[in-house]
Order: sequence, then structure tokens, then C-alpha cells
Amino acid sequence: MEKIVPNRLDRGFFKYQKEFEDKAIEVLRSGWYILGQEVSSFEEEFAEYVGSKYCVGVGNGLDALYLAFRALGIGEGDEVLVQGNTYIASVMGITMNGATPVFIEPDEYFNMDASKLEEKITDKTKAILVVHLYGQASNMGPVVDICRKHNLRLVEDCAQAHGAEFNGQSVGSFGDVGCFSFYPSKNLGAFGDGGAITTNSKEIADTIKMLRNYGSEKRYYNKVVGVNSRLDEIQAGLLRVRLKHMSELEQEKREICERYLNEIDNALVELPKIREGATHIWHQFVIRCESRDNLKDYLDEKGIGTIIHYPIPPHLSEAYAYLGVKEGSLPITEKYAKTVLSIPLYNGMTREEQDYVIKAINEYGK
Ligand SMILES: *Cc1c(COP(=O)(O)O)cnc(C)c1O
Repeated sequence: MEKIVPNRLDRGFFKYQKEFEDKAIEVLRSGWYILGQEVSSFEEEFAEYVGSKYCVGVGNGLDALYLAFRALGIGEGDEVLVQGNTYIASVMGITMNGATPVFIEPDEYFNMDASKLEEKITDKTKAILVVHLYGQASNMGPVVDICRKHNLRLVEDCAQAHGAEFNGQSVGSFGDVGCFSFYPSKNLGAFGDGGAITTNSKEIADTIKMLRNYGSEKRYYNKVVGVNSRLDEIQAGLLRVRLKHMSELEQEKREICERYLNEIDNALVELPKIREGATHIWHQFVIRCESRDNLKDYLDEKGIGTIIHYPIPPHLSEAYAYLGVKEGSLPITEKYAKTVLSIPLYNGMTREEQDYVIKAINEYGK
């Protein structure tokens, strides 16, 4: 068998090839390529999908995070609580504004442990950034309560969790701002970079619309020093095609993961858990193993590629050495970094490929 890669995007494209190609040609022939009809239609459709009043398309997920904190006026001298075991972009969205991240340990579902939030709140704390990691909605009940009680802003990093729900409510609709990435490998992926924010506040939506376009609401009248971070027409058009098929794509991944959950059976491997009341859209299927590096090499020899999300937690990365958060200060986060492994998962994964992965993992260490 051909090597099984951790993720592949071609099969997801070919599944709807004609629709994608027709849309791309339509946009190319329209003569309008930035901030036009496709972007505004996508913004309307995606706001409805999330259940928020407004959506604003931006250039990528990192910009969505950066612009969210900027629109909320969070910067120098402010602290933002964020889970330790996230992709570093979550943290960069905070620090690009000059604010300071304060790391919270994760729960057994790889999301923020809400019971550890209050002990970290100081008079500098201005916001909580919840990351719905790997595709599972975080425990939003207590997070929302804590934000209300302490008058904190709530930002959600939904880059891995488009459409995931907590108690029937979609991620990206709980907080002041929801931040999304449409990087090609995400569940709702474009064919290049893309991102968006969702919000119920007209003021925040208008501010981000201004900031994404050089700080201007009206052409050549610039109110503030903004950025250039716009979703383009081709990506928006292609995202509209993919959005129409999201439930089908999600169902396909769910079926693969149900097989993994039911059929992977090895005492050396811990399977992911789903919180009651939360849904998981399976951006990644993340197992844990004490001998993770060994397992990774073993699978590689069998022709199965895997990825570690993420080998170095943000507080131990060179980029954040200046924060002075030492090794050993976040033991659960650090343990996850040493034991997690994402196994192959993608739309269009054949039954034969699934069988092969399951069998190889079951035979590990035997
Ligand atoms: C992908 C990702 C981002 C960044 O999105 P880009 O579009 O790549 O900038 C931010 N946060 C998380 C959790 C992500 O997975």
C-alpha cells in the first residue's frame, strides 16, 4: 500500500471538483477579486452557520486573533488567560497586541481546565482566550460564568472547531469574538490562507472591518493605523462551496473516528475522550502513549505518517523565553507535549487505509 499520510487534501477537493472549479472560473471571470459579493455572501452564510449576528472575513486565523484583541482594546499591561497546550498562534494573537499570556493547564479533553481559571485572575486580567483544541468544544458553562463574574472579555479560538457545539450552541458564538482559520488543512479549509471573526456586536464587527482595510471605513479616509488582512473573493467563493457540504464532510470524519474509538485496543494507547454536552468535529484524532516517540517511529516504518500537535508548548518555545515561564511550571501541558500523537485522518480515507492504521496500532508492542 502507498504510504498513509497524516492528512491529505486532494481527496476532499476531487469529491466536489466540478463545483470548486466552476466557482473559481466564475470569480476569475467576474473581474472583481477583493472584498466583493463572494466575501459578503460568505460572511452572511458563515454568521448563520455559527449562530452569530456578524462575521467579518480576514486574511488568516492569526490575524483574526490579533484583530479580536485589538478591537477589544486589550494591550500593554493587560493579562489574558489561555491554555498552555495550544498552537502558538493563539498566544501570538495576544502578544502581538503587547498583552501578556497567562497559561492555564488543560483538562483530560485537551481543553482549558475551567476549574483552574479563578486562581490565576489578577487585577490585570482582561480576557480569557478559550481554544477548542483538536475539534472538541471546550467546557463553556463555567468559562462563561467566570467571565461574567469577573467582568472579563471572552475570545474563542475556533480555528480547529468550525461547527462544534457545547450544549447545542456553536463555538464562536459564546464570547465577544470568535476567531476562525480557513487554512487548507482545517475542517473548513480554503485553497490558500483565510480567516474570519464572528461576533454579536455591531461595534466590534465594524471596528474589525475598518482595521482589516488600513483603518479606513471610507476609501482614503483613514481613522487609525490598520492592517491589510482581507479574505479574497476566490477563497470566499470556494469556502461557500465547502460550507454547503460541511455536514457531509463532518459525518465522514465522525464515522472514521468512531471506528478508531471502537476498534483501537492496545493497553499502551490512550484514546481521546469526549466531554458530556460537547461535540467533536475531529480536526485531529489525538491518542496518548508513554512511549510516543517509539510508537511514532514504529508507525513510520509501517508506512503510516503521524504528527505531534504540538511537541513544544508555547511557554517553552524560544519565541516566548522572554516570558520567563520555566520548564516544570505547567506539568500537564508538558506531559501532553511528550505523549500526544495525531494519527491519519482525512476526508476520503479508504476503509482499507483505516483497517491498516487500526491493525498497526493494535499490534504495537506485541
Ligand atoms: C491554525 C490555527 C491558528 C492560526 O490560523 P492561520 O490561519 O494558520 O493563521 C490559530 N489557532 C489555532 C488553534 C490553529 O489551529
